[in-house]
Amino acid sequence: MIIQVLQLKDSTPTPIEEILPAGTLDIDAVDMHYVGEVTVRGNAEKNLNTLVFRGHIYCTREQTCARCLKKVVNNIDESVDYAYDIKGLKEIDLSDDIRDSLILDQPERFLCDSECKGLCPHCGIDLNTSKCHCRETRKADSFKNLKKWFSNT
Ligand SMILES: [Zn+2]
Ligand SMILES: [Zn+2]
Repeated sequence: MIIQVLQLKDSTPTPIEEILPAGTLDIDAVDMHYVGEVTVRGNAEKNLNTLVFRGHIYCTREQTCARCLKKVVNNIDESVDYAYDIKGLKEIDLSDDIRDSLILDQPERFLCDSECKGLCPHCGIDLNTSKCHCRETRKADSFKNLKKWFSNT
């Protein structure tokens, strides 16, 4: 995303909007996929040798829950505030900063819900929607072992 410095008037905020196909930003991760377009909307203002862009990045992110592997689609609204030294420059490219803002905003470990129960490690069933008996069986087993241990002493 390029801003033409020479087209801006000094000390006057100029509204700027650009729609970028998510693919061009190269921001997908293993458990994260950007869907459709990334919209950048805000105001650019030039003061002497400094250009400030303040605005928002809107996009749609499909993330995979680290516990239950469910895919969740979220609409992202990230506010941004960039400043550039434009001395001698005709244009500036915001693409790297937009990419960095989105990557920094990605959670290290995404959960569909902080209470997500995840998948059963034994049978793989989704414990948010179904129940299995793996845990109860294991509990009963360890209780049996404990009883055995007591009877041996
Ligand atoms: Zn989950
Ligand atoms: Zn199970």
